[in-house]
Amino acid sequence: MKISIIVTIILIFCFSVMFLSHVKDPFMLKREKMIAEQLVGRGINDENILQAFAKVPRHLFVPPPDRVFAYNDSPLPIGYEQTISQPFIVAYMTQVAKLDKYDKVLEVGTGSGYQTAILAEMVNAVYSIEILEPLAKDAEKLLKILGYKNIFIKVGNGYEGWPVKGPFDAIIVTAAPDEVPMKLAEQLRIGGKMVVPVGTKDQMLLLVTKTPDGFINKKLLPVRFVPMVEEKEEEQKSEPEPKSKDEQENDG
Ligand code: SAH
Repeated sequence: MKISIIVTIILIFCFSVMFLSHVKDPFMLKREKMIAEQLVGRGINDENILQAFAKVPRHLFVPPPDRVFAYNDSPLPIGYEQTISQPFIVAYMTQVAKLDKYDKVLEVGTGSGYQTAILAEMVNAVYSIEILEPLAKDAEKLLKILGYKNIFIKVGNGYEGWPVKGPFDAIIVTAAPDEVPMKLAEQLRIGGKMVVPVGTKDQMLLLVTKTPDGFINKKLLPVRFVPMVEEKEEEQKSEPEPKSKDEQENDG
């Protein structure tokens, strides 16, 4: 009799916790579905990455009217003609960088701050540069509210990198330069890896590894990212090209 009462109490407790966690975060089921279908289903198998995606509330990184679409298999607008990257591409770039919990990572193109948060879940420190001040400030505010203490954001031109904080174990570039930005590559430690989408119309995601004898570039997959602007272009407020449906695969 006593045991059945205890079991009933435990069951009520467990169901309450499950119920309350869904009420607290109504997007949890969508997030779990995104992980299963878009990440695990496409070969993302690093447990640390999957845990980071389960923890970071992606819907908070998009403007409120778009929150219902936050877990869709696509990028979304975040204002200022920029986008939050497609979940798969965030996971893929993180996986190929082969991160370690002791690592110091440089991200170029903070944008919404979503990839910044994913990286911060996995490594010791994330330094992130964003050229558009309002995006940098919004991301900084949200990441602070979410409690991240290992993220450092600055407004600036990502082509310059952040040499005083280097060398970095990894560099993740989330906007596309025309060619491999060597000033950034130089800020890797020997053995460090940079993941960078390169090109104008046809872009290729590259993995650049710094070795004692120079750099090794490996082609990964075709992608479509917003351009990495030079400061002077940014002042002219150049318009990014509209995207066709076909081009939305592997979208940054
Ligand atoms: N990882 C971000 C992607 C944002 S899109 C996310 O998932 O939200 C790319 C970002 O790169 C944009 O916010 C854009 O303003 C920024 N960017 C473009 N050129 C840059 C440059 N030269 N230096 C720093 N940031 C740049």
